[in-house]
Amino acid sequence: MESVVTIPAFGDNFIYLYRYDKNNALAVDPCDSSAVLNSLNEHNLKLTTILITHHHWDHTGGVSDLKKKTGCEVIGPDKRRIPAIDRVVDDKHVLAIGNIEIHVIATPGHTKTSVCYYIPASNENEHKILWTGDTLFAGGCGRIMECNAQTMFDSLLRLASLPDDTLVYCGHDYTLENYEFALTIEPDNKAVQQRLQEIKQTIRAGGFTVPSTILQEKATNIFLRSDTNEIKTALKMPDAGAVDVFAELRRRKDIF
Ligand code: ZN
Ligand code: FE
Repeated sequence: MESVVTIPAFGDNFIYLYRYDKNNALAVDPCDSSAVLNSLNEHNLKLTTILITHHHWDHTGGVSDLKKKTGCEVIGPDKRRIPAIDRVVDDKHVLAIGNIEIHVIATPGHTKTSVCYYIPASNENEHKILWTGDTLFAGGCGRIMECNAQTMFDSLLRLASLPDDTLVYCGHDYTLENYEFALTIEPDNKAVQQRLQEIKQTIRAGGFTVPSTILQEKATNIFLRSDTNEIKTALKMPDAGAVDVFAELRRRKDIF
């Protein structure tokens, strides 16, 4: 069994289980408690910990019920807005869960208190793993709801600075529409065209469009390419700075 189990929920949300120490598990953004309980059961896993990226109901909906039924610990960044929270984390906190180290990366933008969780490779964990909530999506990024474009862009750049081979697990399956949107801006971008074909194939085969990698995002995520001449030219903003270009892309995506 892979160490990450992807659980689709509510149409386009992704919940993740991460297996460690044989049959312990942590859950990331469990919006739907019965979907999580079924998956724990199916894989014979015991839920010890919940990690929350941000307070929105479509990431926290199952928290209270799961805590009641499993006695797990609830960890997240926002004491006031996350239900049943036990431990509040902030930027640069390192959590020790079993033998796993989990690094907290503050990524304000979608909400003021959003965080991402990063697991470096180790003896216990062969792949580098990043859970991005609604900050970075495969081919896209979250809506800017409580901060300005500069803050969101800075958060995305922090994630983009992680190692290229980090596996990226995001909070929603918006992958197809993200690449369709990218092609409306840059219809002739071969890498984006190819990625869209791969995504369509994955979906046809019944697979998930996650994980992607940091390398793949840097190459084809249009929001991470806001500082390129190609995007500036496409938007007719040749002299604009990256943040203004990013803000314009986000505005267009909001109404796409
Ligand atoms: Zn959200
Ligand atoms: Fe969400």
